[in-house]
Amino acid sequence: TVRTRVAPSPTGDPHVGTAYIALFNRVFASQHGGQFILRIEDTDQVRSTAQSEAMILDSLRWLGLEWDEGPDIGGDFGPYRQSERSHLYKEHAERLVASGHAFHCYRTPEELDELRNARKAAGKHSALKPSDLKLEADEIERRKAANAPYVIRMEVPEEGRCEVEDLLRGTIELDWGQVDAQILMKSDGMPTYHLANVVDDHLMQITHVIRGEEWINSAPKHKLLYQFFGWEMPVLCHMPLLRNPDKSKLSKRKNPTSINYYKRMGFLPEAVVNYLGRMGWSMPAEQEKFTLQEMTEQFDIQRVSLGGPVFDTVKLSWLNGLWIRESLTVQQLATKFREWAFNEDYLMQILPQIHSRLEVLSDVAKLADFFVAGLLPVQPEQFEFTKLEPEQVRKVLQFCVWRFETQPDWDKEVIHHSLTVLSVAMGLKLKDFMMPLFVAVSGRTTAPSIMDAMAILGSDMTRARLRFALE
Ligand code: ATP
Ligand code: GLU
Repeated sequence: TVRTRVAPSPTGDPHVGTAYIALFNRVFASQHGGQFILRIEDTDQVRSTAQSEAMILDSLRWLGLEWDEGPDIGGDFGPYRQSERSHLYKEHAERLVASGHAFHCYRTPEELDELRNARKAAGKHSALKPSDLKLEADEIERRKAANAPYVIRMEVPEEGRCEVEDLLRGTIELDWGQVDAQILMKSDGMPTYHLANVVDDHLMQITHVIRGEEWINSAPKHKLLYQFFGWEMPVLCHMPLLRNPDKSKLSKRKNPTSINYYKRMGFLPEAVVNYLGRMGWSMPAEQEKFTLQEMTEQFDIQRVSLGGPVFDTVKLSWLNGLWIRESLTVQQLATKFREWAFNEDYLMQILPQIHSRLEVLSDVAKLADFFVAGLLPVQPEQFEFTKLEPEQVRKVLQFCVWRFETQPDWDKEVIHHSLTVLSVAMGLKLKDFMMPLFVAVSGRTTAPSIMDAMAILGSDMTRARLRFALE
């Protein structure tokens, strides 16, 4: 049976790219009566968070992309979180060392730099090869005796061509000269992506690896690992990456990339899935609006086109409008709307912000509208009250966008800290520094607590409004 998987790393917001890849895996598996697995690749212990994992699961579920096995529901091939499978990777890495397909590498960071420089000086590709890395036997013994840290690296051919098969591209040829002796186990005993991914795909009996194009260059290493272990390799299928309207790779610097944003903005999950289904793929009769079920019935992976699909929020909005008009009765719309804006959870976040300032209930609309709104049109005059020069206003907004983009956590403390750091850097009092944010985030000059508001709105909506004000 067909078994596919999506294998997100829980290191940030739930990315639309993850949903896109999940969708094609889900559809492909369903179409073949197979299973779709959700595996959490959290071997990067520093960057992985439980919060990010929870958001990824929530968003995929919100989109209706249900998995048959996963960390939350279990299955016959668990655990489905790599951090709980360490012993397996260790065992397999040692197996490769024993069979001569991997070796202990005691090179220090300084030596690695020197080796790379030496390769560059000799006009060679910078990928470090086993022949560069291997030490004399007595030197290895000496370092081992001194308990020096080591990593486990895989053997790779020094030169020649490597061929890998891709379901959409046919045979891809890559040059072994550019493939380094990949680290499989780090000195702290944690596996790298490559080892964990191959071991898990095999043990979880994955038959088709449908993933982003960015992994094509890793395919030779993976192919070699399958050979070393004597395992059959799953079919590989690399999907084209999503792009910004300017054709560059979709990035949060130019577009909201978090599913949280689209949810907060009031997109319907059905419309988002529909739009993602049109990324690189289309229904036979160019049908624009379709359900997950319809896509599954008509799906043909061979019809995925490799030209970079553009993820355009304007087109997505148009499609969402179709869904609202054509697929929701007013009664259903009422339910959706209540769930979206007036659910208990959200009300419990926004009402405390205005509680003390309400005289009549109808004040809610004017005090809290920006909690339900999407992007807010702001006029340059609105910033006049800040007493800052227009240039300074722009700087404040821009600095905040840049800082928030790289900030993995999002709560009031984190926001407070960031704003403090930035205001100091700009030589402004925190109070003055925050003025432009009031306008851009809440569309008004007096808001409850702007930091609370930003925390409630989320990083993506906050950044989207700041970016919108900058336009
Ligand atoms: P950004 O440039 O916005 O920071 P990123 O590449 O850093 O994006 P990651 O956090 O590294 O994003 O990726 C999260 C997940 O989203 C990964 O699984 C990655 O494969 C996927 N992803 C990121 N960008 C794209 C894209 N353009 N198309 C498809 N999937 C993507
Ligand atoms: N953890 C990888 C990612 O975040 C998975 C890549 C793959 O599917 O092999 O994209």
